[in-house]
Amino acid sequence: MAERIYLSSPHMSDEGYEQQYVKEAFDTNWIAPLGQNVNEFERELAAKVGSKAAAALSSGTAAIHLALKAAGVGEEDIVFCPTLTFSATVNPIIYQNAIPVFIDSDFKTWNMCPQALEEAFEKYPNVKAVLVVHLYGLSADMDKIMDICKKHNVPVIEDAAESLGTYYKGKHTGTFGDYGIFSFNGNKIITTSGGGMLVSEDEERISKARFWATQSRDQARHYQHSELGFNYRMSNVVAGIGRGQLKVLDQRVEKKRYIYEFYKRELSKLDGINFMPDNDWNDPNYWLSCITLNGKIRPLDVMEVLEKENIESRPVWKPMHMQPFFESYDFVGRDVSEKLFENGVCLPSDTKMSDRDLERIIEIIKKLW
Ligand SMILES: *Cc1c(COP(=O)(O)O)cnc(C)c1O
Repeated sequence: MAERIYLSSPHMSDEGYEQQYVKEAFDTNWIAPLGQNVNEFERELAAKVGSKAAAALSSGTAAIHLALKAAGVGEEDIVFCPTLTFSATVNPIIYQNAIPVFIDSDFKTWNMCPQALEEAFEKYPNVKAVLVVHLYGLSADMDKIMDICKKHNVPVIEDAAESLGTYYKGKHTGTFGDYGIFSFNGNKIITTSGGGMLVSEDEERISKARFWATQSRDQARHYQHSELGFNYRMSNVVAGIGRGQLKVLDQRVEKKRYIYEFYKRELSKLDGINFMPDNDWNDPNYWLSCITLNGKIRPLDVMEVLEKENIESRPVWKPMHMQPFFESYDFVGRDVSEKLFENGVCLPSDTKMSDRDLERIIEIIKKLW
């Protein structure tokens, strides 16, 4: 059988940039802690997205955790976040002993519905922070969301784990709110094997996050701690991979767009297929190409025929308010995220795919019709 085709898997540069930076770390014996790759990766990523400061961390989840802490979220505080997301968005709210309230999506963006957000503010005027997600590389409607949050004077954190390379009206996602986070996990558009980044305009809060991420060690010769610490910093080897990957980010976005347009051209005429939303203010990274199916052919039919050919595809995220662990928390909205979950499929979007691979996938899918 042909080699497995993945949804989205690591893709190192043809030029070997990653190995050059990693080799530098080895040659200087600067494997850990920290070091030049970490400092430069922070600087380069901040420059790429247009943010003032960045802290390189061990994961996107760690970055969300420290963003919540920096925003002052603590015990019993309420945090609004979308229900349609990966659980890693929500888990850090629980780490802080805070309370998530789940907000529905809208069909226009698949992301946080501004109207449902307004309703949530009416119900919970004392919310401590709003956590917005840019799902699958599509940006949320940031103008509307920022207006609502400013009106209520509540800090905004953007989970841009899936949207590195995505712009909203020319501005990079993750730079609208008080804090933005990125992930370099293995399935993301660029990867360091695992890692994350916290960005902000507030350099002081970023240095504070670095302090928390290295066990909150006070300035003293002995080990002195006046705050709870975390072991969340990125290693100098991992940051070397990140610096190399950042050099090919634009190339990866270009290929992801090519994949999306290929599918759209070939499949959009089929009965009952709809592609994820194209909004003219949105310049997505097309991390995953997603469709919804509203006809006789169901998502499971598509996923099964692909799996038989050793090709990976996935349902759209199962909403958090439908998850056994989170179902006791409140949900504000209607049934949009539920519908997206029921009808959605993420098509294979691996940047290593050839045209032949794409043609094969399209043939397999078309046969269902
Ligand atoms: C991947 C992901 C995260 C978590 O990032 P890690 O680096 O894996 O911890 C958070 N939120 C979303 C939406 C993600 O897709």
